Amino acid sequence: MYNFTPPVTRLIEELRKIPGIGRKSAQRIAFYLLRSGKQDAVNLANAIIDAANNTFFCSQCYNITAVEPCEICIADREKTKICVVEEPFNIYSIEKTNLYKGMYHVLHGHLSPIRGIGPDELKIPGLIKRMEKGEVEEVIIAVSPTTEGNATAHYLSDILRKFKVKISRFALGLPIGADLDYVDSVTIARALEGRTEL
Ligand code: ZN
Repeated sequence: MYNFTPPVTRLIEELRKIPGIGRKSAQRIAFYLLRSGKQDAVNLANAIIDAANNTFFCSQCYNITAVEPCEICIADREKTKICVVEEPFNIYSIEKTNLYKGMYHVLHGHLSPIRGIGPDELKIPGLIKRMEKGEVEEVIIAVSPTTEGNATAHYLSDILRKFKVKISRFALGLPIGADLDYVDSVTIARALEGRTEL
């Protein structure tokens, strides 16, 4: 059986670790990179190294940033509102609507007992710490309307209740099972405006 030469195999194996990329796609990307001219491949590799080496999690909201605190945490925004999202890229989906001017908090995932992801694996302690400062008046839980997202939202609303703040969920209008990132700005805007109190 013919195997790809070792450096190509290694490239394919690394590409396959990316969510959504299967064996066939990994092979296609690897061969595209290697035949499209060395410079493109080197530029891509350098961009990955640069992004990996020069970004980190914001100590306040856990967004991915190159400055501490991140641009959103340092901006003149409504400090009384925190919108809780699952992934850093969810922030950009919400920012595109131009409707939300509060702060964010990134959980870096959702509760998933099957995959062994409990509250301690998420950035929930950091959120509690922010709540304890007493500045926050509303927490908007903007997790995906999936089974795991719902479980995460319920868990959060339970532990946040003691802070006596308004807790709302924005999932209204989002199609069942839709991932927040794949929903367009108009849908997110409608959901944000029609958020329901928990
Ligand atoms: Zn931040």
